[in-house]
Amino acid sequence: MTIITRFAPSPTGDLHIGGARTALYNFLYARKLGGKFLVRVEDTDKKHKLCNGGNVDDNVRSILAELNWLGIESDEAATLQSANYARHKDVVERLLAQGQAYYCYDSVARADRDSVVYARQAAGKKNNVFRSAWRDKDKKGATQSTHKDVAPVVRLKVPLEGSITIDDSVKGEVTLSHDQIDDFVLLRSDGSPTYMLSVVVDDYDQRITHIIRGDDHFTNSFRQRALYRACCVAGIFDSAPKRAEPACAHIPLVLDENGDKLSKRKGARSIGSFRDDGILPEALVNFILRLGWGHGDGEIFSQSDAIRLFDLTGLNHSAARISYSRLESLNGHYLRNLPLADLQQRLEPFLPHGTDATQRARFLKGAEGLRKRAKSLRDIVSLGDFYFRAPSMPLADPQAREVLASSDRDVSSVLLQLRDSFASLHDSCWDSASITDLLRSTASSDGLGFAAVARPVRALCAGRMDSPDLSEVLAILGKDETLARLKNSHLGNSHL
Ligand code: GLU
Repeated sequence: MTIITRFAPSPTGDLHIGGARTALYNFLYARKLGGKFLVRVEDTDKKHKLCNGGNVDDNVRSILAELNWLGIESDEAATLQSANYARHKDVVERLLAQGQAYYCYDSVARADRDSVVYARQAAGKKNNVFRSAWRDKDKKGATQSTHKDVAPVVRLKVPLEGSITIDDSVKGEVTLSHDQIDDFVLLRSDGSPTYMLSVVVDDYDQRITHIIRGDDHFTNSFRQRALYRACCVAGIFDSAPKRAEPACAHIPLVLDENGDKLSKRKGARSIGSFRDDGILPEALVNFILRLGWGHGDGEIFSQSDAIRLFDLTGLNHSAARISYSRLESLNGHYLRNLPLADLQQRLEPFLPHGTDATQRARFLKGAEGLRKRAKSLRDIVSLGDFYFRAPSMPLADPQAREVLASSDRDVSSVLLQLRDSFASLHDSCWDSASITDLLRSTASSDGLGFAAVARPVRALCAGRMDSPDLSEVLAILGKDETLARLKNSHLGNSHL
C-alpha cells in the first residue's frame, strides 16, 4: 500500500505554526515511508472569516509560498477543494437515492428548537444531538410544495443504533455511540457542499491512507467516519479492505508562551513573520518538529534526520508550549553551521536600503565573525551596522561611550602612535595578523595592556563593544576607512 498523506488548510489567513506543524508531520510521514504528500486547500466554506483582511486567493498563494519556503513540498500540484463541487454533490444525490441522507426543511430556528426530537435520553446522560423529523419523510417532491419558504439542507441520516470506534495513533481507541453524532449537514440550503462532506469525499478520492491533524478535529472524525460508512453502504465507496478508512493521529494543540491556545485569530505569528525576522527555514522546521514530537534526547534534526526518524509513536500526548527563546537558540545553531556563501546569500534581502557595493562587500565578509553571537539574519545585520557606516557620535552603545569617556591622555597618545603605525603599513599587508601585531607592539611599547588600546579602537571603529574580533573588523574595514574612523572620531575629552 502506498502511504498518502495530506495537508488540508482552510485559506482563512496566513500559515501559522500549528498549520505548519500539521503539514510537516504529514510530509515527513509520507517521505519516510516512500509515500506521497498532498496539499489540498479546503475552500468550501466561503463564509469562513478571513483572519488577515486578505482574500482567499492571496491566502492560498501565501500558504503555498510559505510551505515551499519551509521545504514542505507537495508531491503533486496543490488542489482546491471547490474544484470538486460536482463530485461532492453527486455523492449527496446518491446518498439521498439510497436513503442514507435526507432533505431537511427545518429552518435554523426550528432545528434548534426541535433538536431533541429523536434524541435518546440515555439514563443520566444529556443527549441533544440533532435528529430532524424530516429524516423519515425524505421524498423531496412530496414535501417541497408545503415548504416553499424554506430551502432544504441535506443531512446525513446517522444510524440510530450502533457506534463508531476510532483507533487513533495518539488518542488510542475511542468509541462514540451513534446517538452522540448529529445528523449533520452535507449540502447547505444554497446547494453548496460543507467541509464535512467534501473532506470525506476528497480523502477517499485521493486515496488518503493517513490523516495527521490537530486534535480539535478529533470529534469531527466520528462524523466523518459515519459519512464514510454511509457512502460504503450506498455503494459509492468501495468497502474492500484495500480501501479502508484512513488511519488517523490527532495531535495535541500548541500553546503560546502564556499557556493559552495558539490561535491565528488571537494574533499568533505567521510563518512569514519569522522569515521576515531572519529565522532560517531549517531552524523553524526543527523547532516546529519538536513541538509535538520527540526522539530520545535529540534536539537538532536536519530535514533528512527528521525524515529518517519521524514516526507516529514519537508524537506527544500533551500540548506543547511554545518558547521563542528556544527558537532563537536553534536559529543561532543553524546560522553558525551554514556554509559561508549560503549565509551571505541569505543575508542579501536584509541589507539596509541604499547599501553600496563597498559596504555590501565589507559586511558580507564580516558575516563570518558576526554570526558567532547572532540569533537571526536580521541580528547579523544590526550587529554589523558599523560595516555600513561609521559610528556616529555620541555613540549609541553606552559601554562604548563609557570606554571613550574614560580613556585618558596616555591612551590618546598611544592611539595617535597606533594610527601612524597603521598608516605606514603597506596596503598589501593590511590583514588581521599584521593588525594584531601592531596593536600588541604599540600597547607593550607604551606599557599599556592590549585591552587598554584595543577597547578605545573598537569603540571608535565599530561603535560597539560587542563587535567581533577587532583585528578582523579593521582588516575588513580596510586601511583608509580605519584611519578615517580613528581620525574623525574623538575620545570623550577630545584628546585626539
Ligand atoms: N481545513 C481544516 C483546517 O484547516 C483541516 C481539515 C482536515 O485536516 O481534515 O483546520
